[in-house]
Amino acid sequence: MDSDSKFYIGIDLGGTKIEIVALDELGNEHFRKRVSTPKHSEPSVQYSHIIQAIEALVFECETTLAIKETPVGLGIPGSESLHTGLIKNANTTCLIGKPFRHDLSIQLNRHIQIENDANCFSLSEATDGAGKNASSVFAVILGTGVGGGWVINKQLIIGPNHICGEWGHNPMPWPSDTDEPKQTCYCGKQGCIETYLSGPGWSQQTQLQFNLALAPKELIQQKAILPPAQKSYELYVDRLARSLASVINIMDPEVIVLGGGMSNIKSLYQDVPKHWGKYVFSNNVTTQLKENHFGDSSGVRGAAWLNQSIKSPQKQ
Ligand SMILES: [Zn+2]
Repeated sequence: MDSDSKFYIGIDLGGTKIEIVALDELGNEHFRKRVSTPKHSEPSVQYSHIIQAIEALVFECETTLAIKETPVGLGIPGSESLHTGLIKNANTTCLIGKPFRHDLSIQLNRHIQIENDANCFSLSEATDGAGKNASSVFAVILGTGVGGGWVINKQLIIGPNHICGEWGHNPMPWPSDTDEPKQTCYCGKQGCIETYLSGPGWSQQTQLQFNLALAPKELIQQKAILPPAQKSYELYVDRLARSLASVINIMDPEVIVLGGGMSNIKSLYQDVPKHWGKYVFSNNVTTQLKENHFGDSSGVRGAAWLNQSIKSPQKQ
């Protein structure tokens, strides 16, 4: 391997798998591997096994490519407290309350960057994905949950509360009778954006309003022949338009990128921009709504780019 080449290692730690990728500065992939996330009934043992699994993946990657001391970025389904350095809100629960980045940094003998999966997705798409030509990108994941991230000039914006872009637990803007009944969110509030726009949220809302028990994929398949499915889709489009219009009114991004399972609904890219003009405080909206470029690979690629993105320093 050319010793002048600069590489970035990205790791996507999920509940079921750990994936590693090595990118060069142009975003070309030189190594990729996926293993199962270690399981153990004892959380402290599982935690150790996860660190060992990551160490083994990094070792194999660097050995294969004949590189060393490569910057490592990690995407996790949770977040790190900027105040304490401890992990919170992770669905791999053995990480909660642990100084994960600190422990991993010692094990790998290098500085590690950690971000939540929505921020990694956003950075990936803003760096060399669907938003690569834009100076400001808001990227959202519409999957089992709703998350988001904000990137300006390929720099991930974190914010002092480490909450930037987390719009899923804001209330649905411009609510009306057509948004009733509101669902109670797991965060404790009612009518959160996530309760309408996540995949499970849309299904549940359709069930409540139309007594129709269908998954999002089925709703899309049925909407041509089933009027309540069509009506529910139209409500989904208008709610997404309202939710994104509130983002446009505050941040005015050049490009909004959609990710997660709901981003596979191709008609959204034409239908939503037709509706958001009603809510954006401007007579002309030039914001582009784009499908993600890298799909499921955006998490691991964005993790790799964490060390290239100039960002707020994290506590070691
Ligand atoms: Zn909520």
